[in-house]
Amino acid sequence: MPYGKQPPHVLEKAHAVVDGIELPGHWNRMFGSRTITDYDTSALDAITALPGGESLGWCYQCAKCVGVCPVDIVGDYGPRKIFRKTQIGVSLLDDPDLWLCTTCKNCLRVCPKQVDMIQIMPAAREAAINEGRDIPPELQKVFEACDRYGNPLGANPRARADWIKGAGVPVPIAAQVKRPVDVLWYVGSYPSYHPRGVDAARALARIFTALGVDFAILGVEEREDGDSVRLAGERGLFEKLAEQNIKTLAKYRFRRLVVFGPHEFNAFKNEYPKLGGAWDVLHYTQFLVEHLDRLRPLLATPVARTVTYHDPCYLSRHNGEYEAPRTLLRAIPGLTLVEMGRTRENGYCCGGGGGGMWLDSVSRDHTRMPLSARRVIEAVETGASTLAICCPYEVSRFEDAVKATGHDGRLHVRDIAELLDEAMRCPASNRSPTVDPASRPPAS
Ligand code: SF4
Ligand code: SF4
Repeated sequence: MPYGKQPPHVLEKAHAVVDGIELPGHWNRMFGSRTITDYDTSALDAITALPGGESLGWCYQCAKCVGVCPVDIVGDYGPRKIFRKTQIGVSLLDDPDLWLCTTCKNCLRVCPKQVDMIQIMPAAREAAINEGRDIPPELQKVFEACDRYGNPLGANPRARADWIKGAGVPVPIAAQVKRPVDVLWYVGSYPSYHPRGVDAARALARIFTALGVDFAILGVEEREDGDSVRLAGERGLFEKLAEQNIKTLAKYRFRRLVVFGPHEFNAFKNEYPKLGGAWDVLHYTQFLVEHLDRLRPLLATPVARTVTYHDPCYLSRHNGEYEAPRTLLRAIPGLTLVEMGRTRENGYCCGGGGGGMWLDSVSRDHTRMPLSARRVIEAVETGASTLAICCPYEVSRFEDAVKATGHDGRLHVRDIAELLDEAMRCPASNRSPTVDPASRPPAS
């Protein structure tokens, strides 16, 4: 039959004999063409036509992605299911599925067809925003706060450097230093404002000081990096924030840019260069590992904790850094490091990436439990007393999840900077070691 012509209607015979073989019932239908069904593909076409959305159409339904998708583990999700739903006519732009992906990249790691949710989801979200579809109000609020105040918490931009008052050490501000520094420390929004983020920022300030690092921060000139805003679909706002940060950083001379968070790391390493801002960027754990020879003697106080470490998606899977945080943890005397089942390349997402930080109500309505709660249960199962993190999104997420899962007092969440700071404290005074200015090391 010529290609494209419909076959004649195929009758199902009770019995048929083919090449001498008797085929009963419906089996003989296999010898005729069948039309399974006709779908309206416009919902799928709407996604695959978007720049970045093409690969959704490449899915061949092998389901490898579903087993590793953190959202499916607490719900009903994964690229395979999203493809199938759009294929049969569900509009992704109007479906809660649009907001559930955390862009954790675990599906892309295993997908034989390179269906890339890290491109698809931001593209589809951007289309939904541009077309005026309903977007979750909590996310809209964050977009407005970033635009107006330069941070997602809606905090006063003039108070961005207030955290330094309680650091116990001087924290130089680039505008006041008036000379080149070795390290420009981009602090980030949550370490600048969130009470538990501030704890970790102060700890890192003390570590830098104890190491004699020649550093400065941007202070009130710093703006949200915007990478999660981009992944949540607001590319225009991301570009605005990035351009502000690039312009500010261009005013100062420094050798290396050290960032506190994995999302900032991803922004400065992979996204800002596309907009003209390129530096030698390090996550703070990478920077400290480079200085481990000098850091190790400062870690004099044993920290008797059994610790399990959560790989942040944007430091680990997205940017390949698995070892630096673990090396620092192993350097702390008295600390025992144990691993969770889902770790390293297969680390389980905390739920905060890709805008998930600001989409908790969507997640609550469409999953059985928050991803952070699932992860806390996995941490408790290791027998650890402490969940170590190095992403500023995670401390509030995991501390809430510890309470929600009934493990308050049983599992403590600590940034690696806080654990290092704890190990540096003199037990008698509970203060970090003071540094002899004469022993300032050479530039990193
Ligand atoms: S792994 Fe890739 S090809 Fe297989 S079902 Fe998932 S998205 Fe489709
Ligand atoms: S990026 Fe992560 S959350 Fe999103 S679909 Fe893939 S595995 Fe699931």
